[in-house]
Amino acid sequence: MLWMILAFIIVSLIWIAMRSMTRKKEEKRLLTEFASRVTSRREIIDTGEVSKTEDNGWILNPKSTFPLTIYGVDEEIARRIKEILDRGLSDDIYRVAENISSLIARYKIRCKEIDEYIKTFKPIYLKRIEEQIEGYPNWEELSDAEKKDLISKFRTNAILSLEVRPYCDIEALFEGDALDSPLYDTLIEKYGYDAIKYYLRRADRKDITSNGDTIYSFIEELKDLDLLYKEMSLYWQYIEEVSFLIAHTYMMSAYATRDYLDFKKFGKSELTSEWKLINANDENVCPHCRSLENTYFSSEDYPRVPLHIGCRCVVTPVIRKEK
Ligand SMILES: [Zn+2]
Repeated sequence: MLWMILAFIIVSLIWIAMRSMTRKKEEKRLLTEFASRVTSRREIIDTGEVSKTEDNGWILNPKSTFPLTIYGVDEEIARRIKEILDRGLSDDIYRVAENISSLIARYKIRCKEIDEYIKTFKPIYLKRIEEQIEGYPNWEELSDAEKKDLISKFRTNAILSLEVRPYCDIEALFEGDALDSPLYDTLIEKYGYDAIKYYLRRADRKDITSNGDTIYSFIEELKDLDLLYKEMSLYWQYIEEVSFLIAHTYMMSAYATRDYLDFKKFGKSELTSEWKLINANDENVCPHCRSLENTYFSSEDYPRVPLHIGCRCVVTPVIRKEK
């Protein structure tokens, strides 16, 4: 009798050990798989062909979790932008943004999803700045320099109060959006985007030659030089933020699409009980994404990320608890 009990205990122990080993292995596999997704190299992800919308826009990634629509270009340019974005999937995001920025500037490309964000949140931003000015004692008596300092603080506060915040310089996005001068177009057309950018970045603003003309002599003829430099820089920053947001959202949604397709293809692992969102966990995470960090999605209900333009949330499996 005793040996039977002993044998039973031994068999049970072996079984438990084996089960926990398989489980550990599976957990490890899931976690390394997840880690490799974040750091993986060459990527070809099918986000769908460029497709035309009824209002003459182009959807760059119709099959992805976050379609991006651009306006202001023909099909060829739209395809060229998609090509740069696709090639950039395994590249540095800032380089990809830089690579599309000259096309964004040259064709004054608008992105529907960015414009929608600006349309919804810029009025709130402006209102919050206005409220702070109104609430400031003796505002009218302050000097211009004091007002300028305070406004810069008010802008930061206003941005921090927004429920949804794309990962970019939101102030540049909002302030540059209002700038729309034919002068920029003339400058870009005459000298090219890169020459102007190079010129603005040079501290000495010395003369440089482009297309046989000199930028300095052209700009010199204008009256308010300081204002021009300031506005041009703001406008440039705006172009850079738009380029970054397009590149970033395209990339994040491509990765999310690949993970979603994997889930569809292979089904969920037995150990996956639910899905959960992981945010970037820094001070730039917006209240909207923060509010979802402890939300669990049922295993059939794969959450769609990015949650908004410039969102850094990713989906991760929740590993089933051992019973
Ligand atoms: Zn967010």
